[in-house]
Amino acid sequence: MNSKNPRVRFAPSPTGELHLGGARTALFNWLFARHHDGQFLLRIEDTDQARSREEFTQQICDSLSWLGLAWDEEPLYQSKRGDRYSEMINILLKTEDSYRCFCSKEELTRKREKAQSESGGYMYDGTCRALSEELISEKLSSNYPFVVRLKVPRKVLKFQDHIYGKIEVNTEEIDDFIVARSDGNPTYNLVVVIDDHDMDITHVIRGEDHVSNTPKQIMIYEALGFPIPEFAHLPMILGPDKRRLSKRHGAAGVQEYRDNGYLPEALINYLSLLGWNPDTEKEIFSLHELAQSFQINQVQKKPAVYDEKKLHWISGQHIFNSTANDLFEGIRKINPDWRGDEEDEFLIEVIELIKLRAKSLTELEDISEYFFEDPKSYDEKASRKHWKDETVSPLVRQYCETLNTLDEWTEDGVEQALRNVAEDEGISAGKLIHPIRLSLSGLPAGPSLFSMMGLLGRETCLRRLESALQRFPLQET
Ligand code: GLU
Repeated sequence: MNSKNPRVRFAPSPTGELHLGGARTALFNWLFARHHDGQFLLRIEDTDQARSREEFTQQICDSLSWLGLAWDEEPLYQSKRGDRYSEMINILLKTEDSYRCFCSKEELTRKREKAQSESGGYMYDGTCRALSEELISEKLSSNYPFVVRLKVPRKVLKFQDHIYGKIEVNTEEIDDFIVARSDGNPTYNLVVVIDDHDMDITHVIRGEDHVSNTPKQIMIYEALGFPIPEFAHLPMILGPDKRRLSKRHGAAGVQEYRDNGYLPEALINYLSLLGWNPDTEKEIFSLHELAQSFQINQVQKKPAVYDEKKLHWISGQHIFNSTANDLFEGIRKINPDWRGDEEDEFLIEVIELIKLRAKSLTELEDISEYFFEDPKSYDEKASRKHWKDETVSPLVRQYCETLNTLDEWTEDGVEQALRNVAEDEGISAGKLIHPIRLSLSGLPAGPSLFSMMGLLGRETCLRRLESALQRFPLQET
């Protein structure tokens, strides 16, 4: 490990919104920085003018902020660094490590097609590697277009990856690749090196899809005489069918998770386990705990598999661990009008009662509906099972009568009343609890019936019980 405090970066291309893979890369960089008391920087790789969009930059920044992954320093925009890149291309041109290549597109296409039909593979053959000074001056004075290629040194290039271990590449397999195009624009591999150097990046942590770029970048570091950072390539994320994770698998952009009511800490927790093995039974972590525990060398090489069920479970745990007050505020953030005509205090009590049963804020909205509206429908199976025949109705009716006479409407009071009726009639309390729950919520299960009744109040409970008495038992069909 580098002895100075690490500086890492997340370098998204704003050609789309932040998706789960990008968010995981950002998170692991952020955790690494926080764990080692370092810095986490943001770089917007917006050189592809045709595909980069300002709104995606904004969306990516918003998603990172929502996740709680604050970055240090001002973000660096590649689009603003053209002069710096030109300066470096000029330096490269002065050195023996790169050269101008005047080969025309047609010539290269012809060579590629020939090579591909003969051996299947193609590499630039180095035609312009050793052009004479005269020939170069001649071509330049007649304004011949050229690209700049790196003179790839022939050797076995080795580097140590924090996750993949020792990686060795025979550079015979890499051709003299282009670092500047004929319009003078630098290529991806060059700008990344210049930026990482200028940003003083000590560790490059990014997706494994960049592993093949790393040897090329190392050769550019060497050509420019820059110190080489350390590398860690994160394993791929696959869908359950073992194909690269995509929308097809239900994996959405980060913003969609937010809009669907997932808590940021839940998504973070889930993402952290996509590749990182904390080596403990513990699975629920706060962001702070993650920063404390995260070790880059505990990240696995093998691909991580996106598992929606696990995300839901983790999400449910975070909802349950949150205070009802925070959940209330969370709901109001995504849905400012939610139950605006109810008292906040009542809404918070409802959330407290049902938070065990939801995996997201929107689910809390959905499953709380019967606290505010009489059931529009009743679970069919529960109706047939718990209000099987005429024998149930007199019991419910008797309970209603007792409820009517209660001096005070309390959780304990309604419970005691139910138990008294059951005892008088010589039946189990369950025989009454199920039809009452069904009548009040339309559902077969839910939170404690008596707490629910306490919140709903006498008037609502009696009205709903009366409606159910009119309706049940269902006629045989
Ligand atoms: N902009 C690149 C990407 O979005 C990242 C490059 C890097 O991390 O070096 O994949």
